[in-house]
Amino acid sequence: MSEKKNLTREERKAIAHERAEELKSKIEPYLEARESIPTGFKITEHYSAQKKKILDVLGGTVEDWDDWKWQIRNRISDVETLSRIINLTDKEKKEIKEAGKSNRWSVSPYYCALMSEEDYNCPVRLHSLPQMAEVTAVEGDADPMGEEFTSPAEGITRRYPDRLIINVTNQCAMYCRHCQRRRNIGEVDKNRTEEELKEAIDYIASNPEIRDVLITGGDALMLTDSTLDWLIGEIRKIEHVEIIRLGTRALVTVPQRITDELCRILDKYHPIYLNTQFNHPKEVTPQVKEATDKLAKAGVVMGNQAVLLNTINNDPHVMKKLNHELLKVRIRPYYIFHTKSVAGTGHFKTTVKEGLDIMEYLRGYTSGLAIPTYIVNAPKGYGKTPMLPNYLLDIKDDHIKLRTWENREMKYEY
Ligand SMILES: *Cc1c(COP(=O)(O)O)cnc(C)c1O
Repeated sequence: MSEKKNLTREERKAIAHERAEELKSKIEPYLEARESIPTGFKITEHYSAQKKKILDVLGGTVEDWDDWKWQIRNRISDVETLSRIINLTDKEKKEIKEAGKSNRWSVSPYYCALMSEEDYNCPVRLHSLPQMAEVTAVEGDADPMGEEFTSPAEGITRRYPDRLIINVTNQCAMYCRHCQRRRNIGEVDKNRTEEELKEAIDYIASNPEIRDVLITGGDALMLTDSTLDWLIGEIRKIEHVEIIRLGTRALVTVPQRITDELCRILDKYHPIYLNTQFNHPKEVTPQVKEATDKLAKAGVVMGNQAVLLNTINNDPHVMKKLNHELLKVRIRPYYIFHTKSVAGTGHFKTTVKEGLDIMEYLRGYTSGLAIPTYIVNAPKGYGKTPMLPNYLLDIKDDHIKLRTWENREMKYEY
């Protein structure tokens, strides 16, 4: 750099311009790809038309649509109703019927309204409608994380020193086809009883090292407001619990769940964190923004835990766009999970190389805020393990050799 010391202002500017041009060229492939990626904000006309159609089919009103309980009661789970909403070939109808026999499917009318009418590969369809691969490619475990062996009290999964999960229900507004807990979904909705929840609360109260409690399921927000008010209130009474987190896809599949009343309840028990799972930019809609605006006003901090899914988001441009759309609605990308080897979900598997390539493509190319941590869950529930492209090439007592996001190898002395 020393030879640049005596340059004039104009000469410095010329260098900066040249570098800016170089940087600009690096984002061109993304700017081009971005045009063809569907987002929830780009499909608002389609959504309005489908909403109207679905209300006709189900015999509901516009007020019903905004009522989350109506959305849950009216989840679509039969091919006949579905085929009046989107176009299905006879082959597709047969496939959904056949594959849906072993693991139930059910889609909230809201989420259904985001589906493409024509495209079999629509990410919203792939998320929610069974494919034959679920029954033909069944290698994998029912419980690869060994959750059955990490439950010291009813409803609790403990895998870490200072935090744990309470699993409060098996219910969801939509049953993700890639669900890692599909063994718990069963055929009927089951919430934990008050006795079971009390056992879980007692466990937390009697273990003072637990400072972080995750309420999840199923979907934590499938509990009623009054149950949540009671449960979170009880956990908040435990002095050593510092933070409470909610695990929910309701923001994605039934954003109507985020009512003023729910926000009023959550606002009483801060610090409350909410982690959700958006996997594709098409899921980030104006309705989601309305919900996240309310949550942000109520002081809830939101994070996203995406799952890397073959055919849905294993594409660097899609993943980047997803994270940008999330930041716009104030959700901070937190994790990208590598899929687990759960029986019946093999068609969503990717390689770790694909995940690392996505991480390589995010760092430097976009805001640090838009870069989650890529996680592989170690076998048998031994913990989330971060996967990172290698930026540290050598480490010595007085220097390291590093690799920058643009692949420059440099010596850094200290
Ligand atoms: C994922 C998980 C947590 C939370 O992990 P963080 O890395 O803190 O988000 C806690 N307990 C269990 C059992 C988990 O699976």
